[in-house]
Amino acid sequence: MDKSAKTFLHQLLGTPSPTGFEITGQRVWAGYVKAFSDRVESDAYGSAWAVLEGKSPVKLMLEAHADEIGYMVKHVTKEGFIHVDRIGGSDYATARGRKLVFQGDKGPVKGIIGNTAIHIRDRTGGEKAPEVHELYVDVGADSEKDVAKLGLRVGHPAVYADTLEEFGEGRLCGRAIDNRMGGFIIAEVMRRLHKHQAKLPVTVIAANCVQEEIGGYGARMVTYRLQPDVAICLDVTHATDTPGIEKAKHGSVKLGAGPSVTHGTACHPLVVSKIEKVAAKEKIPLQHESSSRYSGTDTDSMYHIRSGTPCALVSLPLRYMHSVVELVDLKDVEHVIQLLTAFAMNLQPDENFAHQL
Ligand SMILES: [Zn+2]
Repeated sequence: MDKSAKTFLHQLLGTPSPTGFEITGQRVWAGYVKAFSDRVESDAYGSAWAVLEGKSPVKLMLEAHADEIGYMVKHVTKEGFIHVDRIGGSDYATARGRKLVFQGDKGPVKGIIGNTAIHIRDRTGGEKAPEVHELYVDVGADSEKDVAKLGLRVGHPAVYADTLEEFGEGRLCGRAIDNRMGGFIIAEVMRRLHKHQAKLPVTVIAANCVQEEIGGYGARMVTYRLQPDVAICLDVTHATDTPGIEKAKHGSVKLGAGPSVTHGTACHPLVVSKIEKVAAKEKIPLQHESSSRYSGTDTDSMYHIRSGTPCALVSLPLRYMHSVVELVDLKDVEHVIQLLTAFAMNLQPDENFAHQL
């Protein structure tokens, strides 16, 4: 990864982008990708997309969701503590004792999720994870008024204070890798395609869509609007190679063993088969997952828009999803970039993904 890509990656993942409050992060994304695109546009709710015109108007959309999970101010007590609600699927079992950053009217405000000391906690009958409403955040205030003075009110969002770190041998660890890393990857794909624009067979749209974590709404709006001919959704997937995960239940995905491609439901067999062919040609390792009902990603929101868009799902293996220590391998990041870039370069303008009877 070169210096400018690395700077962008850390800036993108360091910018809070909780669902419903993605615009600051979207500006960082748009600011980077515009150098490798013919134009960058956005819609009312803040989904952003970059367009690179190819030799044909046939449109390939590469989509990744731009939002991350977080918390939101639900209630402020007289004593100045903040009760929170979850934005998306935040793992509140691991919340106590962690630091948060609220985005208030006067800028960022640090908070600590209170954790009663082990010595004085009531542990009779064993310990159980707290309910969300039992969590409280200490922002260093003594009263409701103090909290207001900090620029905080009900409805302000927060994310964990953790940022991206290099870890072990070629790995990255941090919060919001789900799926801010997807935004990074599709931007890098545009950077590589831009170098070969004269030979690019189709028009490529990189779409960084809002509001996935609460139901895939941004991707739905963008697919309806842009009407791609074929689309690939990029998200993270559970690496199941850590202790205690039953592979019979959750399948087998290994960190560092390459992008995963999903089979079934929203994932169109002909698009999936094209991905497999491109991976084989480029010698990119692939892992396989099944989707028998839902994929749980934006693919589910994209494929049935209007009269149907042939879609596929490519995933980046990730450990510890929705925690502050999400972990990915840079070899996988590079392989996903290579796979999506090669898919675009190998697409034929007259390639038809519609099933024929
Ligand atoms: Zn995700």
